[in-house]
Amino acid sequence: MNIIFLGAPGAGKGTQSRMVSLQFDMLQLSTGDMLRDASMSDTSIGKEISTMIDSGELVTDEIVVTLIEEKLKQGHKGGFIFDGFPRTLGQAIALDQLLENNKTALTAVIEIKIDNEVLIDRITGRYTCLDCGEVYHESIRPIALNKFCDSCGSKNLKKRADDNEFSLRTRLNEHNDKTAPLIDYYLSKGILYTVDGLKPIDDINKEINEILLK
Ligand code: AMP
Repeated sequence: MNIIFLGAPGAGKGTQSRMVSLQFDMLQLSTGDMLRDASMSDTSIGKEISTMIDSGELVTDEIVVTLIEEKLKQGHKGGFIFDGFPRTLGQAIALDQLLENNKTALTAVIEIKIDNEVLIDRITGRYTCLDCGEVYHESIRPIALNKFCDSCGSKNLKKRADDNEFSLRTRLNEHNDKTAPLIDYYLSKGILYTVDGLKPIDDINKEINEILLK
């Protein structure tokens, strides 16, 4: 099975991707995580990526598709979860081609739908465990064990540098202009499913499980 999570920043793609990857033994491919790793390298491309992420603009298709291509080459028995990829029509077409080359295809595209107004709160209250990637939120999903990650026990919990109102405005514009058109692309392929991102996390997860087990 290969699936995509589509949705604006803060819709809950990362949270649901992590849950589904464990439930179905799939490999989560978060281009945001891969690009944040790549941005740490002291090279001109690392610096270019870092500038784009901080501003909230999309990184070029070429860079992102190359990262995904490398991961697909390694293969994964349970299939892949594309988290934050594709974000442009060019990336979507490239992914179709890469999957076809690997003699596989997309099973489902799950859109997590959410109103723009709630996203600012979602984004500014968010923090992540840098060791295991678990995502938390100050009010919606606080850590149960004070100061330690519930999932791995780490103290390495951080807010993302680009999770601020200024960068979010650009990220939302990028989403509306370049990513939202993918809804029609996948609708026309008959593989698009939409879930309500305002529901509680476990209810959304149950709905996604029902879609995938159909
Ligand atoms: P995310 O962690 O998915 O919110 O992504 C953080 C940032 O990484 C985005 O604001 C973009 O600058 C960049 N990024 C992540 N995924 C992609 C992608 N598929 N295409 C282009 N840029 C991306």
